[in-house]
Amino acid sequence: MTTEKHEFQAETKRLLDLMIHSLYSNKEIFLRELISNASDALDKLRYQALTDTSLAAEDQHIRLTVDKAARTLTVSDNGIGMTRAEMIQNLGTIARSGTKEFLESLTKSDAASRPELIGQFGVGFYASFLVADKVEVVSRRAGSEEAFLWSSGGDGTFTLGEATRAEQGTSVTLHLKPENDDEGVADLTQPWQVERIVRKYSDFVAYPIRMREDRPLVASADAKPEDTAPPEDRVINSMKAIWMRAKSEVSDDEYNQFYKHISHDWSDPVARVAFSIEGNFEAKGLLFIPGKAPFDLFRSDMKRKGVHLYIKRVFIKDDCEELVPHYLRFIKGVVDAEDLPLNVSREILQQNGQVRVIRKQIVKKVLEQLGALASNERETYEELWAEFGAVLKEGLLYSPDKNEKVLDLVLAPSTQGEKLTTLAEYVGRMKEGQKQIYFLTNASLELARQSPHLEAFKARGLEVLFFTDHVDALWLSQNETFQEHRLVAIDGADVELPIASGSAESENEAPAADPEIDALLVTLRVSLQEEVKDVRSSSRLTDSPACLITDKGDMTPQMEKLLRVSGQPVPKTKRVLELNPKHPAVQKLAKLASANKDDPRVSSNAQLLYGQALLSEGGQLSNPAAFAKLVADLMVAA
Ligand code: ADP
Ligand code: MG
Repeated sequence: MTTEKHEFQAETKRLLDLMIHSLYSNKEIFLRELISNASDALDKLRYQALTDTSLAAEDQHIRLTVDKAARTLTVSDNGIGMTRAEMIQNLGTIARSGTKEFLESLTKSDAASRPELIGQFGVGFYASFLVADKVEVVSRRAGSEEAFLWSSGGDGTFTLGEATRAEQGTSVTLHLKPENDDEGVADLTQPWQVERIVRKYSDFVAYPIRMREDRPLVASADAKPEDTAPPEDRVINSMKAIWMRAKSEVSDDEYNQFYKHISHDWSDPVARVAFSIEGNFEAKGLLFIPGKAPFDLFRSDMKRKGVHLYIKRVFIKDDCEELVPHYLRFIKGVVDAEDLPLNVSREILQQNGQVRVIRKQIVKKVLEQLGALASNERETYEELWAEFGAVLKEGLLYSPDKNEKVLDLVLAPSTQGEKLTTLAEYVGRMKEGQKQIYFLTNASLELARQSPHLEAFKARGLEVLFFTDHVDALWLSQNETFQEHRLVAIDGADVELPIASGSAESENEAPAADPEIDALLVTLRVSLQEEVKDVRSSSRLTDSPACLITDKGDMTPQMEKLLRVSGQPVPKTKRVLELNPKHPAVQKLAKLASANKDDPRVSSNAQLLYGQALLSEGGQLSNPAAFAKLVADLMVAA
């Protein structure tokens, strides 16, 4: 085979372009990425060698080599290596569609002003181009005799050719950009600088990172015998598994660096949780709550490198879904179990009792930590809630993972003001005699705040919570209770109003019977039968003439929309139109209908009432043109 030229995939080109022109000041993280890849490759080999005896995982290490004259830095490992096809695939394309879309949405100026954005997704290898203008990779797959050389200048192409390599594994050689090309980048041809970066970011990598001591090879006259010996290897990382060390021994900074190492996040975590299980079996865990949501949090192809599973310090997998329920998928960290078999399979993980206990412990600890933040560091918690609230609420959905404790963590805006409130705080403010927790769901908070459904609640000084996330329609449809108070939708039929509004009229009592209104209801039930299920007189309105409510047991419009979006065929649920019998528009219509119920104005006004009730809650008219014509006619008649 001669050397072949390949085009990078379009998205990869884009990413490389971002890297090469990045203004990101902390360019030294490239080394963390390369060491992390080397460490991954050693992990993979070690794991495969457990079952494949033809593979040898001996003297596993990472080596750094600096060549001052050539201005190169090489990171090599004796790990799993790559085949030719793997090199093309792994170092030429970006496989996941989520990353692709995110890249497309990133403009060059975004990347320049908020360079940490490119760190959000595991761009690992390509970070080489932050400091290099040419990168060469030589790799030999474990178990194979062949080695290949991948080479690229970060322009649109890379080449691939044959190479020789004595042992299995991979070497990545960076041809460093000219000196002082860029402020803020250490001189990477200085071994001590490289060493400093390794200590800072990769100290706890579980394999020795070796560097060769630079010594004069020519012995001087007064040389001691050891000076003439060939240069020696030195291990520059401590290799200590951070989760095995006593908490008092580890600094916050070390914990944070470890977090960055496993999460590829470029900022510090918001909180960390350590736990240790002893007794029937032993396990340790070190978990982190990130400050920012990854861009693919809500994508089905989300890269779930959340909690890494180790067994007796041996890395097993980094996407261990069995350890964390889906609604905590943003948690990062490590679990190290002492008593699981190393060759643990997916099936074992799913059924294993220890794994279940660890998972329970993770859930408990993380929710406790979030609860502590909510009560002690409210501002931080609110920021966290903005990032992860919608995910956490998935923990309230009906499933084996459902956890009532998440209710304690819920924050929501309310009619009380601009601040977010917890359910407990809401309950503390409940009016005497109030049994239910009132809420309104709407995709838009602005629309929710103006909803006519609020009128009766405002008139009685009752607080109403607003829920605006997709997931809210789902968990709130499950008849949730909090501290024995039912959560009730104010646009539903289950609302009980405890306190009389300013007027003498007592609460839940039906509005005083009025034969004209009753007759109007009968007429409108016929004239609006295509649109609504029923027409009733209402006590929940003060200023608006009409509103729509969801009947007992019926699907809410938010739920209907959600199901439709998810591709399920849902029949249209008709709602109930409630009229305000005290509103002049309704009274006038009642008069009109009692004079002549076949008057065409009766049915057109009925349509107007229905249409504006729908519009005022942010709904969509099925025939906007017809509605507009009715309004225009009304203006002409006036
Ligand atoms: P990630 O590590 O998040 O998968 P990277 O861009 O860092 O993304 O690396 C891309 C892929 O290239 C890796 O998943 C791995 O398959 C391969 N790779 C990179 N470095 C090495 C290495 N030193 N040894 C073996 N494979 C490697
Ligand atoms: Mg990587």
